Amino acid sequence: MVQVADIYGDLVFNDHTMQERLPRETYKALRKTIREGEPLNIEVANVVAHAMKEWAVEHGATHYTHWFQPLTGITSEKHDAFINPQDDGRAIMSFNGKELIQGEPDASSFPSGGLRATFEARGYTAWDPTSYAFIKDEVLCIPTAFCSYTGEALDKKTPLLRSMEAISHEACKVLHRFGTDVPRVVTTVGAEQEYFLIKESDYEKRQDLILTGRTLFGAPPCKGQELEEHYFGAIRPTVNEFMKELDTELWKLGVAAKTKHNEVAPAQHELAPLFTISNRAIDHNLLTMELMKKVASRHGLVCLQHEKPFEGINGSGKHNNWSIATDDENLLDPGKTPQSNLRFLVFLAAVIGAVDDYQDLLRISVASAGNDHRLGANEAPPAVISIFLGDELGRVVDSIVNGKEYTKVKDVYMDLGVDALPNFLRDNTDRNRTSPFAFTGNKFEFRMPGSQVNLSDANTVLNTAVAKLLHDFNTAVEGADDFEKAAFAWVRETLTKHQRIVFNGDGYSDEWLDEAERRGLLNLKSTVDATPHLLDKKNVDLFGEFGVLSEVELHSRYEVKLEQYSKLLNIEGQTMSHMTKRKIAPAVTAYATEVAESINAKHMACADMEPAADKKLLRKLNDGANDMSDAVDKLDAALDKAHATTDALEKARVYHDDVLAAMDDLRVICDSMESIVSTEAWPIPTYNKILFYC
Ligand code: ADP
Ligand code: MG
Repeated sequence: MVQVADIYGDLVFNDHTMQERLPRETYKALRKTIREGEPLNIEVANVVAHAMKEWAVEHGATHYTHWFQPLTGITSEKHDAFINPQDDGRAIMSFNGKELIQGEPDASSFPSGGLRATFEARGYTAWDPTSYAFIKDEVLCIPTAFCSYTGEALDKKTPLLRSMEAISHEACKVLHRFGTDVPRVVTTVGAEQEYFLIKESDYEKRQDLILTGRTLFGAPPCKGQELEEHYFGAIRPTVNEFMKELDTELWKLGVAAKTKHNEVAPAQHELAPLFTISNRAIDHNLLTMELMKKVASRHGLVCLQHEKPFEGINGSGKHNNWSIATDDENLLDPGKTPQSNLRFLVFLAAVIGAVDDYQDLLRISVASAGNDHRLGANEAPPAVISIFLGDELGRVVDSIVNGKEYTKVKDVYMDLGVDALPNFLRDNTDRNRTSPFAFTGNKFEFRMPGSQVNLSDANTVLNTAVAKLLHDFNTAVEGADDFEKAAFAWVRETLTKHQRIVFNGDGYSDEWLDEAERRGLLNLKSTVDATPHLLDKKNVDLFGEFGVLSEVELHSRYEVKLEQYSKLLNIEGQTMSHMTKRKIAPAVTAYATEVAESINAKHMACADMEPAADKKLLRKLNDGANDMSDAVDKLDAALDKAHATTDALEKARVYHDDVLAAMDDLRVICDSMESIVSTEAWPIPTYNKILFYC
C-alpha cells in the first residue's frame, strides 16, 4: 500500500525541495520573488535552473516544457530535451536560467483574436515562479504566462496574476488602515470538479461524443436520476479503482485531492481538492482534468468533462470557492460577532458591491456553448447573478442598511432524540444550492462555472472587481478624522446601494426571475447575449484602471470567445448532420425495410392475415425518415447561412438562433425514432446502455 505522506508532492519542485537543493542565498532570493514579486536576476535563475534539472533528471525526466494556458483555456506544452551534445560524441543534460525564465513558442497557431494580425507571430512564455514546477510523463513542466511580441497577454494566466496583484495592493492598504501591515494578500480557490465516467466501448461508437464531448442524440433512458440514489451512493468497483489511482497520481503532483463522491446523475462524480492560492489552484484544476482523462483510459473508461453530455440528465459544473487571506487570516471569516467586526464588513461589502456592479463580467466569465445548456435549467443556477448570505449575515446586513439593532440568530442545538448520538450546534448558514454566488461560512462559492471552463477568467473578474470596490473604500476613508465612522458609513452606503443583488430564496423558481427583473438585475441567457457586454465602457475602464487587461487585450478576448462559440457549434451542427445522414437515417430505412419484408412474408404465408401492427410501425418509420430528411436539410441550410456570415457577433447569433434551433428539431425526430427502432438495429449506444453499467 502507498503511504500518502511518502508520495505526496514527490514530483513537485516545491518549497521543501527548493530548501533542500538550493544554496541558501539563492533560496532566499527566489522566496522573495515568490512572496513579494521581486524580479529574479539571471544569476539566481541559472542556479535554480541547474538544481531543477538535476532534481528532474533524478526523477526520470528527459525533457522540459513551458506549460501555459492559451486563450483556448486548455494547457499547451512543447517538449525540449535537456540534451546538449558534446564534441566527443557524448551528450550531457543541461538547462540554464534563460531557458527556465523565458520561452519563445510560435504564437501564430494559438487564438489571438486579431492580436496576431497586427503584431509579430512570435510569442513569449515567462516563468510563473509562484506556481511550482512539476514532472509529468518524464517532462519537467514549468508553469508560465504567455504573451505576444509586444507584451499583450495571449493567455488566461497573465490577467489572473495581474488581478491578484491588484487586489493584493488594495487589500493591503485596507489592512494598513486597520493597523495590520502585511507584504501581500492572496486570493484562494477551491475548485470542485464534476465529471462523468462512461465505458470506452460505448464512447468509441459515438462520433458525437468523440467530436463534441456531448451526445447530440439520445432518447431519455427508462430510468434517470429520479430515484435520487446515485448522489453519495456507494461507488462502483471500477470507478473506485479509477478514483484511487487518480488520487495517488494527484498527490504525487502535490494536488491536495480531498473529497470524492458520486453526484446526482447516473455515472456522474465529483472531486474536490483542498483550496490553495488562486493561480496554483487553477493549475492544479487543469492538471486534475488532464489526469482524469488519462487515468480513465487505463480502466477502460472515458471521462466526460462537457457541461451537458446528456440531455435531460444533470450536467456538470465546477464550483469556484473563493476567499481572500493574509498568511495568517482568512479575511472573509466573520468571527463570532460579524456585526461588530468592521474589517470583515468592509470586505463583505466590497464583494457584494463588486458582484452587483460587474454581474455581466461574471456571467461572461462562465459563458460557453456548453454551459448555455446548464445555466437556467433546473440543475444549475439561473443566468441571473445574485448573492446568498444566509440567515445570520442577512440579518447583519439588514440591520446596517435599516439602522436597526442587530438581533443575533439564537444558537440551536440539534438533538437527534437518541441518547447515544451527540448533540451538536446547528450551523447558522444553511445551504442554498440554488444560488449562483453563496456565502458558505468563510468564503464565497461561485456555482455558475461549467465543468470544462478554465477558472482564470472568473477569478480575474472577481479579483479585479473586488479590488475596485476596495479602492473605492480606500478613497472614501482617505483623510477621515474618524476612520471607524467613515469606514462604517462606507459599508452602510455600499450595502444599501447593492442590496438588490442579495437574494436568499429559491433561485430556480420562476418568481425569482420576475423579481430579479423588477430589481433591475441582468438576465443574460446565452453566450451570444452576454459576450458583447465585455466591451461596455465600465468594463473596459475597470480592467484598464487596474492594469489587468488593456482595451486591445479585451477586444481580442471578445473575438476569441465568439469565434470559439461559433466553431464549436459548427462542429456540433456538422457532426449531427453527418451522423443523421450516414448512421441514423440508414438505420431507420434498414429497419423499415425489415418491417416491410416481414409484412410481405406474413402476407405470403397467410394471405387473409392483416399485419396491422407492422403496418402502423412501418408508417411511423417512413414518416420519421421523411421528417428527418427535411430537418437535416434545414440544419444544412442553417449551417450554410452561418458560413456566409462574416461579422463575428452576427455569425455567433446565427449559430445560436438558426443552427441550434435546427439541431433541436432534428434531435426530437431522431430520438422519437430511437424509441421505436429495435435495439439491435439502432446504430449507436443508447442512454440506457451508456449511463448504467457495472
Ligand atoms: P461542498 O460540496 O459542500 O460545497 P466541498 O467540501 O466539496 O463542499 O468543497 C468545498 C471547497 O471549498 C473545498 O475545495 C475547500 O477546500 C474549499 N474552501 C474551503 N475554505 C476555502 C477558502 N477559504 N478559500 C477558498 N476555498 C475554500
Ligand atoms: Mg462538493
